[in-house]
Amino acid sequence: MARQRRRIQVAIDGPAASGKSTAARGVAQRLGGFYINTGDMYRAVTWQALERGLDIEHDPAAVAAMLPALEIRYRLDGSGVPVLHVNGAPAPQSEIRHPRVAAQVSHVSAIPEVREWMVQRQRETAELGLIVMEGRDIGTVIFPRATVKFFLTASPEVRARRRLAQPGETLPGATVESVAADIARRDRIDSTRAVAPLRPAADAIVIDSSDLTIEQTLALMVKHIEAATAPRRRRKP
Ligand code: C5P
Repeated sequence: MARQRRRIQVAIDGPAASGKSTAARGVAQRLGGFYINTGDMYRAVTWQALERGLDIEHDPAAVAAMLPALEIRYRLDGSGVPVLHVNGAPAPQSEIRHPRVAAQVSHVSAIPEVREWMVQRQRETAELGLIVMEGRDIGTVIFPRATVKFFLTASPEVRARRRLAQPGETLPGATVESVAADIARRDRIDSTRAVAPLRPAADAIVIDSSDLTIEQTLALMVKHIEAATAPRRRRKP
């Protein structure tokens, strides 16, 4: 990956379907930074485990045993955009965003060996310079000294509606209630796991986006980031 000079990490954590991807992508675009989606990295491992027919929930050791032969990392494409690659090829969004992956990913991400395997791969993206990274443990574990940390939330109903509006991410016949139940199940597993559970960092800026437009959320985040990265004025003697 190409190196830039000033290293700035913007961490965006939060529960499922809280709008992290839209916010993180938008912030990266506005600030000229690189957008990294760590959820997609866990989804890619899950996809690979399903492709191999593993019983993820009952045989976590088999998932861990798969890791040494797996290569998952972000590579810059011809336009300098980070693209997630699995064993040298771009990860197909239609696979990793599929509901069958969403249904299993929290079991995969609770496996300590999987999380350990991710840490270095996620931290090394800092060499890009300004990165905007979304996930569950970015502000708490991956970059505990991130330049700015956000914890983005929204009400369960708003999150379910947002997820339903994403093509290919829910099964045919899904309703606000069924999607809300799936999301709640995933959040429960993510928040109660032993390693790196979903929770806001002590110094995170919490934003409830239930009643905010995307534009308003982005403006709020950019304001905080600009305040945190502005050159400090010298105090008068
Ligand atoms: O963000 P997204 O909903 O795509 O994440 C999918 C799953 O990946 C989460 O439900 C969680 O189990 C896992 N995850 C995680 N830590 C991260 C990012 C995602 O455990 N930093």
